[in-house]
Amino acid sequence: MALIDSCGRTINYLRLSVTDRCNLRCSYCMPAGGCPPCHDAPLADEDLYRISRAAVASGVEKIRITGGEPLLREGIIDFLADLARIPGLRRLVLTTNGLLLTEMADKLREAGVSSLNISLDSLRPDTFARITRGGNLERVMAGLDAAGRAGFSHIRINVVVMRGVNDDEAAAFAALTLDRPYRVRFIERMPTGNGDDWRSTTVPGVELLNRLNGRYRLQPVEREPLSGPAVYYRIPGAAGQIGFITPVSCHFCGDCNRIRVSCAGIARGCLFDEGGTDLKPLLQHDDDAHLQEALRRTASDKPERHRLGDRGAVAAREPFKMSQIGG
Ligand code: SAM
Ligand code: SF4
Repeated sequence: MALIDSCGRTINYLRLSVTDRCNLRCSYCMPAGGCPPCHDAPLADEDLYRISRAAVASGVEKIRITGGEPLLREGIIDFLADLARIPGLRRLVLTTNGLLLTEMADKLREAGVSSLNISLDSLRPDTFARITRGGNLERVMAGLDAAGRAGFSHIRINVVVMRGVNDDEAAAFAALTLDRPYRVRFIERMPTGNGDDWRSTTVPGVELLNRLNGRYRLQPVEREPLSGPAVYYRIPGAAGQIGFITPVSCHFCGDCNRIRVSCAGIARGCLFDEGGTDLKPLLQHDDDAHLQEALRRTASDKPERHRLGDRGAVAAREPFKMSQIGG
């Protein structure tokens, strides 16, 4: 049965965070010293599996595995292979920083992951190292190639654009799509828990679009089902596409189809929800009925929209840690 929220949106997409640990410290995501763990221990595979199964039974058709860095979770490949076999799940996808893909891309494919999002914010080694606080660009590029060899097509490259840091690389990223079927997606920077002045570095998607249009005359691409919030364009004749994800300047809440569950088992209807519903106590029941009910409630109570664009509303609340909720 489909999950319909109180605004009439069909909710068919679960973002499941499997860890809050990470092997990078991206400046827009976490503090230099990392985030304190948000739980004593992450939920066991069996519990995350049951939550996923309950979500699918409630109408979810696509699950994105995220984190933290999901490939750091012990046993992740076996866990993914189990998820991929949940009857009714149409797509199992994963977001990674790419550092471990050289070793793991083939196994992810064999486990049944159908597509990958790879986060990559700069094509310059020094800028990449600065943004990620020590990350090795060469390793991510090798991971990207390994993913292509493993058979992942239409890899999505997530670029968080920051003014004065990497926004001058937009054209170079766009050029990656010329002869490779990548979907390069420019994401507006959102707030973090670091107390920094995030707004001063957020570059509105429309500004980037105008800049790239001046150079490439982008053509709009029709939206695909289950494709998420990006609006896509193509450089005429290019193999890939260029997407814009604009949570700050132009919220896409009217089309939002997702719920989230953290690795600690907290379900949220919106990335910016405070609190959420703790699913852990419901795992004590033998059957999944209570989990299904809680997930349906999480979906039906989704807020109509987030308030990121409203200065006062955002200032009034404690910002959140992206790596703990799953980005
Ligand atoms: N570690 C994996 C990775 O980086 O791909 C998965 C988790 S990460 C939290 C998921 C996504 O959230 C990444 O694409 C990342 O760029 C994005 N993200 C994190 N913090 C963000 C912020 N402040 N604004 C916009 N996107 C952000
Ligand atoms: Fe880690 Fe991903 Fe956050 Fe970067 S964006 S610190 S890779 S969780």
